[in-house]
Amino acid sequence: MYTYKNQQLKIQNSLTGKKELFKPITEGFVGMYVCGPTVYSNVHLGNIRTFMSFDMIYRYLLHLGYKVRYVRNITDAGHLTDDNTEDKISTKARLEKLEPMEIVQKYTVDFHEILRRYNFLPPSIEPTATGHIVEQIEAIQKILDNGLAYVSNGSVYFDVLKYNETKHYGILSKRVIEDAIENTRSLDGQSDKKNPQDFALWKRAEPEHIQRWNSPWSVGFPGWHLECTVMSTKYLGDQFDIHGGGMDLKFPHHECEIAQAEACNHQAPVNYWMHTNMLNLNGKKMSKSTGNHLLPQEIYTGDNTILSKAFSPSVTRFFNMQAHYSSILDLSNDALLASEKGHNKLMEAIDALHNIKTSNMSTFDVTAWKKKCYDAMNDDFNTPVLIAHLFEAVKYINQLKDDNASITVDDLTTLTTTIKTFVFDILGLMNESDSDSANTDKLSGTIELLIKLRAEAKANKDYALSDQIRDELLALGVQLKDGREGTTFSLN
Ligand code: AMP
Ligand code: ZN
Repeated sequence: MYTYKNQQLKIQNSLTGKKELFKPITEGFVGMYVCGPTVYSNVHLGNIRTFMSFDMIYRYLLHLGYKVRYVRNITDAGHLTDDNTEDKISTKARLEKLEPMEIVQKYTVDFHEILRRYNFLPPSIEPTATGHIVEQIEAIQKILDNGLAYVSNGSVYFDVLKYNETKHYGILSKRVIEDAIENTRSLDGQSDKKNPQDFALWKRAEPEHIQRWNSPWSVGFPGWHLECTVMSTKYLGDQFDIHGGGMDLKFPHHECEIAQAEACNHQAPVNYWMHTNMLNLNGKKMSKSTGNHLLPQEIYTGDNTILSKAFSPSVTRFFNMQAHYSSILDLSNDALLASEKGHNKLMEAIDALHNIKTSNMSTFDVTAWKKKCYDAMNDDFNTPVLIAHLFEAVKYINQLKDDNASITVDDLTTLTTTIKTFVFDILGLMNESDSDSANTDKLSGTIELLIKLRAEAKANKDYALSDQIRDELLALGVQLKDGREGTTFSLN
């Protein structure tokens, strides 16, 4: 059994810049928070790549036997960043003449539908920012009480310079505070801030801003960074194991999360920060704002002008898993075509496992191969290396199919369960003819069992029973054939 008790899982920690042995705060339990989508438009495949990487990580942690509390939020309140004072949900609501919560509902439903199609496991908790306004107001009050924020014209700002006197603003993004100033100054001409690098904890609502709540400071809305601080610590504690998101969120979003949590709770909130790399389209980051994107539904329906055909969710998932989560991945028609070939080869090999004959020796070291699969995943969830190992098994299965190799019963069982575990449970791929093949699996297993019982009956000279099994199976359309290599069957 491979479990967290005997495995050495290593994680690349963006906070330290090192690959570190993973040691959760409480043995056997993992708290993981991942920044969810801002639901003002459809998620594109880039967003999905990030969530899919964490889905794979979640699946592997569960597989190792950890009890995981996985929290992934929905950003459904005014999404306000320092370099962008526009609230995308309100803007979209005005444009489409809908309530902001209608926009939120529409795109949350879309998000969930995409996740279902792409075989995501649901997180343990999916909190919404609008459901946690009270907690956000409480956190702001705490930061004010601790002297690390100030009120200005109905808005509340985090005092970055004051914080930086005792702490390090830039600890995660490795920026020095002067860089942070450089990056924000030009955009902050007429703000209420004391210093350009300060960021909003609460913003007084302008008349056109529809999503608004009462607070001690003004009728307004919370800053974007704050929701993640509040929801992560509410459900996972002031200090938790893993916080994830795309690379583009490292600064300012995650940097600000650290500062806010320190300012509230006097401790670093996260032990392992994990950042996924970007999905590119045509050499440029896939992004909502630039329009350089493909939607998942455009890929599986084929309804787009970029790809030559439709690609199934499982093929797209396989394409994502062929790259390490921390590498840039380029989407193209050729890349998807190649992934489809590989994906189908893998599925065909898995299907072929039903009909492999066993012998008294194996010509492939299945036990060593299994260990290599785990080693790859333990090395910072290295799915491309894992997939390379899975293809060694595919090669072996194809040799077995052609009678150019042999395998013992025990090794066949190990090979079958291991490859299925990694492909379906951990990578989350789907065999497209899933229900059919699952049923075929069960039928084959049942017949094999009857063949075994018949052989036992024969060995005990209970020919009446062995004939009965053969005849009744035949009446059901299952023909048994006794040969030198044992008994095989065919379906009439
Ligand atoms: P958003 O809804 O814009 O906050 O994005 C949700 C998640 O998707 C964040 O973790 C982003 O970092 C991530 N993301 C956005 N664009 C891409 C991309 N092109 N590739 C991978 N992840 C992305
Ligand atoms: Zn976040």
